[in-house]
Amino acid sequence: MSVFSMKNIDQDNNKDADKPLVMLVDDEIENINVLRQLLESHFQIITGLNGAEALKLIDNMVDPKQIQLIISDQRMPKVTGVEFLEQIVDKMPDTIRIILTGYSDTQVIIDAINKAKLYKFMTKPFDPVELSLTVQRGVEAFQMRRELIEYSTNLEKIVVERTQELNEKNEKLSEAIDALEKQSLTDQLTGIHNRHFLSKFMPQDVAKLDRELEQSPAEFEQIGLMMVDIDFFKQVNDNYGHDAGDKILIKFAHILVQTCRESDWVIRWGGEEFVIIARGLPKEGIENLAERICANVAESEFEMGLEKTLSITCSIGIASFPFIRKNHQLLTWQQTLNIADTALYMAKNNGRNTWVNLSEKNIKQPESFYRNIITDVKLSFECGDINIHHASSITHVEL
Ligand SMILES: [Mg+2]
Repeated sequence: MSVFSMKNIDQDNNKDADKPLVMLVDDEIENINVLRQLLESHFQIITGLNGAEALKLIDNMVDPKQIQLIISDQRMPKVTGVEFLEQIVDKMPDTIRIILTGYSDTQVIIDAINKAKLYKFMTKPFDPVELSLTVQRGVEAFQMRRELIEYSTNLEKIVVERTQELNEKNEKLSEAIDALEKQSLTDQLTGIHNRHFLSKFMPQDVAKLDRELEQSPAEFEQIGLMMVDIDFFKQVNDNYGHDAGDKILIKFAHILVQTCRESDWVIRWGGEEFVIIARGLPKEGIENLAERICANVAESEFEMGLEKTLSITCSIGIASFPFIRKNHQLLTWQQTLNIADTALYMAKNNGRNTWVNLSEKNIKQPESFYRNIITDVKLSFECGDINIHHASSITHVEL
């Protein structure tokens, strides 16, 4: 005869399969039979005739954690009830453990309550009703604990999933914001920076320059501002249509970007007007850059479709910021750009396809200087406020 019985966990016995699994361990078969009779209508029963056998049975189970409750006799040969239960604490921490013991062993049991994680101990002879109720409550405690663990595991899983979802959404949002920001700073047609870009980043550059000026007023580099305008662009649009005009703008922007250094900013200011911000170049460097731009544009062929090409030119006005070196906060960068625009106007008046650079010479009345140069550049020049530098293509400057 087998020392333990598996008959009650027969897979075909569907009636029993739903019942909680309880293990009975006792070295006296009569005791096991009494307990079995008491419990088998509500529980699936497995049995062991001593601690060692019960351990072996547990070791052979696929999932011993499905044993919801164990009732073990204390006094058994080889392995006592407490020793047996102690050995399975780690393997089946949630299983409810009950010890049946005689009076003489109760102190041993009390000492072992924590170590063997006992749910309860009952002394023999036990009251059948009390034992049934104790087993019932023990199984309920086991099941409630299981549900709580399952609930908290699910909760953790949900939190992890939601956190991941949230992170993904945040990432997408931040990508969308980046894309939007880039879009808002980019000219749609040409793909270069737009006016908004300059308004956003120029103040940072100016602030940096202000700091440099405070640290070493003697040696600092002005920021070159160029206003670039395509000559007779209106005629292109009138004669060839706006699609052709757009093609020219795209190629023109490309030439500007190719001609400038990577650190320069090339901005579509609006229509056929472009602004270039060039840092770290001396006056001659900025003028050389303007010269190269004029040359590269004039030498390029602009395709108009249907194998037609067009030659275009551009004019450039230059002013450097701060315009007044000794009074660097008097004129804003926007006002300095307006002076570059005045220089552009002069380039247009002097044959186009050329550049003009306006710089300070000896400004007597700084406070009224800006108003004067914007309204009458000729007067500013004649009173010695400004220098006019220009391309060699201009032999005599018309003011
Ligand atoms: Mg015994």
